[in-house]
Amino acid sequence: MSPDLDTVGGQLDALASGASSARELTERALDRAAHAQNRLNALISSVGADHALAAADAADYNRAAGRAGPLSGIPFAHKDLFCTAGVPTTCGSRMLENFVPPYSATVHERIDAAGGVLIGKANMDEFAMGSSNEHSYFGPVHNPWDLTRVPGGSSGGSAALVAARVVPFATATDTGGSIRQPAALCGVSGIKPTYGRVSRWGMVAYASSLDQAGVIALTVADCARVLDVMSGFDPRDATCADRPKIDVAAALARPLQGLRVGRPRQWFGAGIEDGVGAAVEAAIAEYARQGATIVDVDLPSSEYAIPAYYVIAPAEASSNLSRFDGVRFGHRCADPKDLADLYKRSRAEGFGHEVQKRILTGTYALSTGYYDAYYLRAQRVRRLIANDYARVFADVDVLAGPTSPTVAFKLGEKLADPLALYLADINTVGVNLAGLPAMSIPCGFSQGLPVGLQLVAATWREDLLIGAGHGYQQVTEWHRAAPPGVSP
Ligand code: GLN
Repeated sequence: MSPDLDTVGGQLDALASGASSARELTERALDRAAHAQNRLNALISSVGADHALAAADAADYNRAAGRAGPLSGIPFAHKDLFCTAGVPTTCGSRMLENFVPPYSATVHERIDAAGGVLIGKANMDEFAMGSSNEHSYFGPVHNPWDLTRVPGGSSGGSAALVAARVVPFATATDTGGSIRQPAALCGVSGIKPTYGRVSRWGMVAYASSLDQAGVIALTVADCARVLDVMSGFDPRDATCADRPKIDVAAALARPLQGLRVGRPRQWFGAGIEDGVGAAVEAAIAEYARQGATIVDVDLPSSEYAIPAYYVIAPAEASSNLSRFDGVRFGHRCADPKDLADLYKRSRAEGFGHEVQKRILTGTYALSTGYYDAYYLRAQRVRRLIANDYARVFADVDVLAGPTSPTVAFKLGEKLADPLALYLADINTVGVNLAGLPAMSIPCGFSQGLPVGLQLVAATWREDLLIGAGHGYQQVTEWHRAAPPGVSP
């Protein structure tokens, strides 16, 4: 069988056998990116064909010299919040429209050292705030399955590029669901590792105690392969943990037989679309058929996850985003009257509406007189949520349920109702509050649109997630389904 050039594994096989060169794979990605851009708007910038092809040629040269790295010659895109030296990094914001970082994120350094070929920077919600990719200064991303619908957010560009088979993987970040939810809505796989598994150095910060980088790809095996390259201790990020690496080969070989799968009752509550619930139940039944044990479990504090998250995340954002003052970074207004005017107008012009709203609510929650009532209380709820998870992981290996309560919604549908948009995160944000690893994998369709199965494990147990996700993809075909018009 000829290798599947849409996957990292297939591309590596083609490179190893000499069936393809890195230059050919990069030309293919650049060509697809150019064709997809009008329809999807999934890239904010491209690194330029010359630059990408030079990196591909270097990968070909290294492979011929016997020095191929684990991703040598594989084209990819970065969510546009990973700093890339000499390549614009906008974070989806007018504030950073012209920002060219003088250094690269650790994640980029590692993928680059492994031989990955960066082709461009993926569109995203401004400062990673959103669940629909409609809050990008560079315009919304369109879902490849239906161009009138959102791809999910905030890593909508990354998910759309992988779903459209432009690149076999893209980096992404997840503060409250932004890897898993767009992966679910675009019918691809995405892994958000344990908080501290991947360095945040050089990643533009949204909410530092929640932000974590991960991967979107077509298969769990590809996600694991790339995560292996990205992860590991980095002394430049004080929250990056010095832990042993995941044994990816052992994780992929884990059988489903005997796996203990928890089904949290609260994840199947009101608001779950019927077709989504049915596809997820069928996936859980498949686990049972493969010899897994299914256990109903309770996460009673789940109902407080959204309110706690939407206090803590904006509070941290208000602090992180104070650095964008028109002086040191990014947009500066024209002809300021005085210093206060410079701050005010630079921020008013540079930040979009959603970002301003979050800075205001976050500042409010942290102000004297409200700190105890909002921020401190939310932190206590965060502890209760983490305790819920710790308790259930004494009895189960992974939790399984819907990543998102609905399939991809129409562009514009939830813009007028921010609460409805925040509710799209109902099953994802608790995981970030507890710092756990989680994944979304395709598990069926509802209304002709992809449904994602969310799997969650205890901290540092990515091996269980990878085993459970890969095992499922060995016996199902959902991850192979391609959006209409995508050539194989
Ligand atoms: N939708 C959530 C938010 O807007 C999560 C975003 C994310 O994970 N970056 O905060």
